[in-house]
Amino acid sequence: MGPRGTGGRAGRAGAPAPGWTCLLPLLLCTALRSLRASPGSEVNLLDSRTVMGDLGWIAYPKNGWEEIGEVDENYAPIHTYQVCKVMEQNQNNWLLTSWISNEGASRIFIELKFTLRDCNSLPGGLGTCKETFNMYYFESDDEDGRNIKENQYIKIDTIAADESFTELDLGDRVMKLNTEVRDVGPLTKKGFYLAFQDVGACIALVSVRVYYKKCPSVIRNLARFPDTITGADSSQLLEVSGVCINHSVTEEAPKMHCSAEGEWLVPIGKCLCKAGYEEKNNTCQAPSPVSSVKKGKITKNSISLSWQEPDRPNGIILEYEIKYFEKDQETSYTIIKSKETAITADGLKPGAAYVFQIRARTAAGYGGFSRRFEFETSPVLAASSDQSQIPIIVVSVTVGVILLAVVIGFLLSGRRCGYSKAKQDPEEEKMHFHNGHIKLPGVRTYIDPHTYEDPNQAVHEFAKEIEASCITIERVIGAGEFGEVCSGRLKLQGKREFPVAIKTLKVGYTEKQRRDFLGEASIMGQFDHPNIIHLEGVVTKSKPVMIVTEYMENGSLDTFLKKNDGQFTVIQLVGMLRGIASGMKYLSDMGYVHRDLAARNILINSNLVCKVSDFGLSRVLEDDPEAAYTTRGGKIPIRWTAPEAIAFRKFTSASDVWSYGIVMWEVMSYGERPYWEMTNQDVIKAVEEGYRLPSPMDCPAALYQLMLDCWQKDRNSRPKFDEIVSMLDKLIRNPSSLKTLVNASSRVSNLLVEHSPVGSGAYRSVGEWLEAIKMGRYTEIFMENGYSSMDAVAQVTLEDLRRLGVTLVGHQKKIMNSLQEMKVQLVNGMVPL
Ligand code: AMP
Repeated sequence: MGPRGTGGRAGRAGAPAPGWTCLLPLLLCTALRSLRASPGSEVNLLDSRTVMGDLGWIAYPKNGWEEIGEVDENYAPIHTYQVCKVMEQNQNNWLLTSWISNEGASRIFIELKFTLRDCNSLPGGLGTCKETFNMYYFESDDEDGRNIKENQYIKIDTIAADESFTELDLGDRVMKLNTEVRDVGPLTKKGFYLAFQDVGACIALVSVRVYYKKCPSVIRNLARFPDTITGADSSQLLEVSGVCINHSVTEEAPKMHCSAEGEWLVPIGKCLCKAGYEEKNNTCQAPSPVSSVKKGKITKNSISLSWQEPDRPNGIILEYEIKYFEKDQETSYTIIKSKETAITADGLKPGAAYVFQIRARTAAGYGGFSRRFEFETSPVLAASSDQSQIPIIVVSVTVGVILLAVVIGFLLSGRRCGYSKAKQDPEEEKMHFHNGHIKLPGVRTYIDPHTYEDPNQAVHEFAKEIEASCITIERVIGAGEFGEVCSGRLKLQGKREFPVAIKTLKVGYTEKQRRDFLGEASIMGQFDHPNIIHLEGVVTKSKPVMIVTEYMENGSLDTFLKKNDGQFTVIQLVGMLRGIASGMKYLSDMGYVHRDLAARNILINSNLVCKVSDFGLSRVLEDDPEAAYTTRGGKIPIRWTAPEAIAFRKFTSASDVWSYGIVMWEVMSYGERPYWEMTNQDVIKAVEEGYRLPSPMDCPAALYQLMLDCWQKDRNSRPKFDEIVSMLDKLIRNPSSLKTLVNASSRVSNLLVEHSPVGSGAYRSVGEWLEAIKMGRYTEIFMENGYSSMDAVAQVTLEDLRRLGVTLVGHQKKIMNSLQEMKVQLVNGMVPL
């Protein structure tokens, strides 16, 4: 018999419950009610405790489940259902909920709170007493599905009391309140019913909460990510694109991943405030345009202008940019930069109309241009009389006032916290443009500060000078080679205070030490990327000399991982690796070779965003405790360095890729030391002989394969950083690809593995062959595309490989070479394909 719908309502308020009355006293229920604020990322579809009226649940048969008619202190009903037919044989008591809309969620969670009486605690030999009950569901698009048969319900689980209970002191006895959560999905209809089946237990169902999880709307990296319902699969990560907030633009398309648990993971890319807008509390505001421009003295060849500061400067105005051109000749314009609110444009044609536009610049960049203002120069004949009419005294007073304003402005700016350009600009700079460009735009490349005759000039070219008084040092967080590293706060005029890290140069430094110390700032200051540590500025005009950078709450990555061994999901670890690869891609695009890429030189913030740090000139390797002297006299962190860089100092982005592979290994093994306690000499020898680090424990095969690719002896066969980023993006988008772990039996925990050349031999399956040539990652793709036998594989062409998504040239070569080899052997009658 099915739990069909015409059964009576379960229990009535005040009706005595059979067998076991007063399962929960009133006060206790009230206390439980107040405990149930649901976490932000959970959205309730039903909470039996918050339903004020009738729940509309149906019991079948009528004398099975019964509602205990309690009310709380506000006379709101407490919907507790109980059944306790432990004395009777063959129980089959159903309790059906009303229809629950899933509100578009395809995976829902059911949290049950219940007490279940231990059969041993009941008097008399109770052979029929049970200690479990069953939970079912039935999907339907509307409420019509209620009258279905018992066997049409799908079982979710058998529910038993478990260890995780809360002990409830009921005065005369202690009761255990169990909480069990089950999830159901993927759901395909608009809603569902739940059903609870009792087969002879003594149960009080205290509350039922049904909810789905969502990643709540958030603004991260200036991009807004919408409320996102989690995916149907418990391991699914949904890639969600962010939308840049007002007045910001995409730097790298902002994306995040919504996990099944309702957490935002792996932020990628970011938005930047548009020129002229400044980031403040997750918004962008800008200096408003200059609104009022007045003409001053006009001659036949010049026009003088003055204007008011914008109504909302939103920061200190560093300078104004004045663009002007002869009316209807817009393609040929002149730009004047001025720190004052007045200029004179000279060299103009007599009797001609000129169009002027002005915009202000703060530390955040330029605001919008003002509207166009049009003024005319005097005609030739009028010029001399104009000039002669100006009393000399007026000119003197004007000049005097301007000079006074300059002096006052200078004195005032000295007292404010702000950036100042150490290289003094002339008060006005003038540039002539034709068709928009003063010079052809080029690709940004890294400039080696060594190329500057005076290294101080490089610092001031790339780093902003900060007033020491704007910095508050709070505590020491580390020791650098040149002095202490502190955390603190930076407050710049017009900006909110924010946390920073401050590297100090210890007293008594030599000139070379000062140069090397500031060299790092000259390099860092050239970079602008979300995965590269950001330089705020330097203090060079007072002592101690300081380098101020963004603050990374979790410090260096190796220490952080050791401290949190085993605490992260694979996706979180891959997210960290993705960030590092993205930062390295940026550096290699800029033409910068890091040379000391290692987990100790990566910093990690509170959002688990990793940023590459530790830039330097020759000193990079000097101050690294891991660096050892090589036979050629250089100091090199052997375990992280590619063989060609150790042997003949061939440092390139490809040698950085080798180091990146070692960082991958460090991350996946939670900060284990590469090659453990082997000596540097043994490491060099083993790597030279073709041995490589074995896979870390529980490492996805695809990641280990990527490590091995990074450790190819031939540096040209190693993947490039952009390929690594795309590969990791693919894995993040498709987390099931991370489920295949490196086979535990083939993992050697304390030995290096032989990095065998392309293999050959008789293979029983496509998988076995691909594994043997270390291309196992493509097995699934081969199988899915019909290359499921070695016969089929023998037909594969290079074109086919590309179509299958084997884009790495190294991999294409490996696969094609192996096929070729097998074909040759087949011809020789050696290998049966
Ligand atoms: P370094 O001299 O760059 O190796 O820094 C020494 C130590 O100071 C690092 O290992 C970190 O623990 C800490 N540190 C350096 N920079 C920062 C930063 N920006 N944020 C937080 N901690 C930092």
